[in-house]
Amino acid sequence: MILPIEVYGSPILRKKSIEVDINDSNFNSFLENLWDTMYHADGLGLAAPQVAKNIRVFVIDASSMEEENPSLKDFKKAFINPQIIEQTGEEWAFNEGCLSLPTIREDVSRLSQIRMTYYDEKNNFFDEVFDGIKARIIQHEYDHIEGKLFIDHLNPLKRKLLTGKLNAISKGKVEISYKIRIPK
Ligand code: ZN
Repeated sequence: MILPIEVYGSPILRKKSIEVDINDSNFNSFLENLWDTMYHADGLGLAAPQVAKNIRVFVIDASSMEEENPSLKDFKKAFINPQIIEQTGEEWAFNEGCLSLPTIREDVSRLSQIRMTYYDEKNNFFDEVFDGIKARIIQHEYDHIEGKLFIDHLNPLKRKLLTGKLNAISKGKVEISYKIRIPK
């Protein structure tokens, strides 16, 4: 089932998410909906708060970027109850976009390496190090479950320049191909 995507202005995107019980009877269908919604909107990743659930879950499928980034081959995963343990390496900038911030793309600086623990949909536990573009995509999605958005990483001036666009998004005045929920 395709769910509407929360956009800038929704308080749900600003709440820190809580751990999820993977044995909950509704969890599997929720996860399926999260995948469906991400693919429908042509996203590389989608976090639960973006479909109005404040739980620590996100999905990523960046395998379509394999040509530009061979390391992304088969990078398709559900991350359940993830915790970033440490972030290290050099800061580097990369142009990011977000399904909750349609029409906005900006260069965002982040550290290049993360160590993270998480479970997959079969309840397998992982303690893994990611770097480069994989770390980048994870950090973006992880921000969502912490109540953050990529624009929070911009300097105040850059952020200010986006005011008009952000206002338009929060009123639903954007042309996009997927379903959004306009904040009240
Ligand atoms: Zn996003």
